Amino acid sequence: MKIFDTHTHYDDAKFDALAPASERAGFVRTLMDENDICGIVGMGVDIKSSMAQLEYSKKIDCFYAACGFHPENIPSADIDSCMATLGGLLQDKKAVAVGEIGLDYYYEQNPPREVQIKWFERQMELARGIDLPVVIHDREAHGDCFDIVCRHKNVRGVFHSFSGSAEMARQLISKNYMLSFTGVVTFKNAPRLCEVVKSIPIENIMLETDCPYMAPVPMRGKINHSGYLHYTAEKIAELKNMTPDEVAAITAENAIRFFNINNIK
Ligand SMILES: [Zn+2]
Repeated sequence: MKIFDTHTHYDDAKFDALAPASERAGFVRTLMDENDICGIVGMGVDIKSSMAQLEYSKKIDCFYAACGFHPENIPSADIDSCMATLGGLLQDKKAVAVGEIGLDYYYEQNPPREVQIKWFERQMELARGIDLPVVIHDREAHGDCFDIVCRHKNVRGVFHSFSGSAEMARQLISKNYMLSFTGVVTFKNAPRLCEVVKSIPIENIMLETDCPYMAPVPMRGKINHSGYLHYTAEKIAELKNMTPDEVAAITAENAIRFFNINNIK
């Protein structure tokens, strides 16, 4: 089964337990070889981690980078200079998206909503200017995320680890957005999410681990990695009445198209 993991955080310190930072790229390369992973996109959450993704992308074939400021990682530095630095990183030929960006209203200690919105919108503008797609993190912020998407009509994007309603999914798809799903679809308490998966076309679905988080059943609680992504493909196959191989192949094609990977020389 050739499978594409569209959302990872291999620079996360949780992976220290599996491989030290100095050997992380080799660890990821072996994972890809042993598990038939045909592509991975690593997510930046700030400048340092965006640079880490670019570093992996230079050491590993078929590893691509997204660079961006996650709402939980907004720095106190001046936004204009941060956007200039980010724009510079995104010039790299293996930088395929602005991400992950968005809104997170779940944790009280996160930056104030108006600050998150400002950084999200600036990164949407940046993405439009350089014609890259965006990877959106939307936690407990469906209404505001949707409004911002509507205000930035010429931006393409994916809602990662989608957690909205079937109606929101339908509206995003009408705007040509993609939705990606993690191991959460395998959890027992996810019937609503499973209904969403059933209700949308497979052409709008991508697979992701969001590793090291969100390990699927039966690996729940373990450090997640791309080698576990097939459990999510198997669950989606069951929901869509398809074979896991079909789900893996179609969602990989979707990812290659969405991130415009064939154009990378
Ligand atoms: Zn993430």
